[in-house]
Amino acid sequence: MNQSNRQVALVRNPTGKFSSQDFELRDAPIPSPKEGEFLVRNLYLSLDPAMRIWAAPMDGYAPPVQPGEVMRGFTVSKVVESKHPDFVAGDIVNGMDGWQDYAVSNGVNYNSQGLVDTWNMRGIQDAELPLSTGISVLGTTGLTGYYGVLHLGKPEKGDTILVSGAAGAVGSIAGQVAKLHGCRVVGMAGSDEKCRMLIDEFGYDAAINYKTEDLMEAIGRTCPNGVNIYFDNVGGDILNTALANIAYGARVIICGAISQYTHLEQGAKGPGNYGNLLFQRASMYGFIVLDHYVDLRAKMEADLIDWLKAGKLHYREEVVDGLENAGEAVNRLYDGTNMGKLLVKIADA
Ligand code: NDP
Repeated sequence: MNQSNRQVALVRNPTGKFSSQDFELRDAPIPSPKEGEFLVRNLYLSLDPAMRIWAAPMDGYAPPVQPGEVMRGFTVSKVVESKHPDFVAGDIVNGMDGWQDYAVSNGVNYNSQGLVDTWNMRGIQDAELPLSTGISVLGTTGLTGYYGVLHLGKPEKGDTILVSGAAGAVGSIAGQVAKLHGCRVVGMAGSDEKCRMLIDEFGYDAAINYKTEDLMEAIGRTCPNGVNIYFDNVGGDILNTALANIAYGARVIICGAISQYTHLEQGAKGPGNYGNLLFQRASMYGFIVLDHYVDLRAKMEADLIDWLKAGKLHYREEVVDGLENAGEAVNRLYDGTNMGKLLVKIADA
C-alpha cells in the first residue's frame, strides 16, 4: 500500500476549457474508515463531460465542487478495509470516489438520498468482463444510452433515430441499443474517422460529419421521412438543426449539451426551431440517468451484459495512464479528440 494519498483538487473555477492551473496534485494522508465506512483503492477514474458542469460555481444537477475540494468522479475501486456491513476487503466496487488514490466512503455518494450508492461489481466479474467496463459500457455511459433510448425514445420498428455525439461513449451505445430494437440509425460525429467507426464498428446505417457537411442537407438526405427519435448529446446549433427535421410525434431526448458546457456561466444557447415541437406534436425530455439507478440499474446492467456476451454490443475505451494526467486528458472531451469512453487508469487491481 502506498504511504500517501495523491489527490487532484480543483483549486479554482475554470473559464472555457479546463486549464492545468485549475487543478493541484497534492499528497494527503490515507484516511481510516470509521464504523459504517470502508476504505477503497481507486483503480479507474471516469472522465465525463459533466465535470465541467460540476466545476462551475453554479447549481447543476449536483452540488458544485468547491475550490480546494478533491475533484468528483466515478470510479472503479478495490475495497482495502471495511467496517461496513455490505462490503469486505477485496470487493471490487463502483462508486464516486473522486480523483485520488484512496477514499473512505459510507456507500452513499453525492446525493443524500443515495441515488448513486456504491455497488458491488460482482455481476461484471462473474461475466468475466474487464473491470474498466464498470465505468464505461456498464457504467453511467452504457446505462445512459440504454435508458434514454428505451425508456424515453420508446423505439418502434422502422423508426429513424438520429444521434449527436454518436461516436462517443454514450452515443455509440445509444445507437446500438436503438438498432437492436429495430431502428434505422443515423449518427453525427466530428471527423471522417469517427464516421467510419460509426458504420464499421457500431453498425450505424448512415453517418454525417457535422464539421464538413451541410448539416441541414445531410440530415434531410439521410432521414428522408424525418427523425422519429433525436438523441442529443451536444445541444446548440446541432440540436436546432435536428429540431427542424423531426417527424410527426417525434421524441427529442436531451441527454447532454456538451457544446455549451465550456461557457455555461454565460448562459446556454437555446434552439430557435423549438416551434417545430408544436407543429410536429413532438415531446422533448431531459433526464439524468442517476435518478433511475435505484429502480433500474440492475436490469439495465443485466441486459447490457447479455448483449455484450452475445456479441451484439460493442464499445470503445480510451485509457489514459496515471492520475497525474487526468487534468490534461479531460479536455479531450471538449475538443473531440477522445476515441471512445475516456478513462484514467490509476492502479492495477
Ligand atoms: P463522449 O465520449 O461523447 O465525448 C464527448 C464528445 O462530444 C467529443 O468526443 C466530441 O465528439 C463531442 N463534442 C465536444 N464538443 C462538441 C461541440 N462543441 N459540438 C459538437 N460535439 C462536441 O462523452 P460522453 O459519451 O461521456 O457524454 C456524451 C454526452 O452525454 C454529454 O453531453 C454528457 O454530458 C451526457 N451524459 C448525460 C448523462 C445523463 O444522465 N443525462 C450521463 C452521462 C453523460 P465529436 O468529435 O463528434 O465532436
